[in-house]
Amino acid sequence: MAEGDTILRAARRIEAALGGQVLSVTSGNDRGRAAGVERLDGRRLDSVDTHGKHLLLRFDDRVLHSHLGMSGSWHLYRRGEPWRKPRSAAWVALAGEDAEAAQLGGPTLRLLWAGQLRRDRVLARLGPDVLASGFDLEGAVRAFRASSERELGDALLDQRLVAGIGNIFKSEACHAAEVNPWRRIGDLADTDLRRTLEAARNLMQESIANGRPSPNVYQRAGAPCPVCGSRVEARGQGDANRRTWWCPCCQGPGKPLRRAS
Ligand SMILES: [Zn+2]
Repeated sequence: MAEGDTILRAARRIEAALGGQVLSVTSGNDRGRAAGVERLDGRRLDSVDTHGKHLLLRFDDRVLHSHLGMSGSWHLYRRGEPWRKPRSAAWVALAGEDAEAAQLGGPTLRLLWAGQLRRDRVLARLGPDVLASGFDLEGAVRAFRASSERELGDALLDQRLVAGIGNIFKSEACHAAEVNPWRRIGDLADTDLRRTLEAARNLMQESIANGRPSPNVYQRAGAPCPVCGSRVEARGQGDANRRTWWCPCCQGPGKPLRRAS
């Protein structure tokens, strides 16, 4: 699943392979053509930026905005290398001198004017990027503080509070910080929030440097916690009922408000 670490790694690889080059831009299917991506054909890719899980490819006064959601992916190939998926699966294919990058699937691919970015309804509301070099930790803590009624695990997925964390690092960060994801923000100390956000950032940075670490709790319901040996628990959380994994021993006190039915 693509979280901020996946997107930042993809951005760096695409920029290294294609940045500064005039690209051939095509689409393999109606979805990409509907987004008008072929208007970028023959333009130079100036830079590739990220904000949380959003990828922004800048071509002079145009920006290609990509979000992979739960199922999309970016592939990078050498020119002429066989693809692992049919070319018709590519919403967009960006071909440079030696390499080709393609987005396959995902909920979002759209072409914007650079001037639209600041007032874009989704992008303008994003919270501080947890992986940004100057991550505003205190700003993020203040934003969480203002959502005092929400449970921590639910709030960590709200991209308006902090951008980049998805379901894996939500669960893993709470476990690393020994904070219970079911506790209301209003019942947590600032130090708990700081520790959790720093854990998310550290785990995601480690993932970028060395690949995704083996999870301690994510998708390990019923298995022993690697720290204390207690059984990892899991339950859906928040309005979207996203699953949260936690160790009731390392991360106590705090219980789910609702029992499983
Ligand atoms: Zn434990």
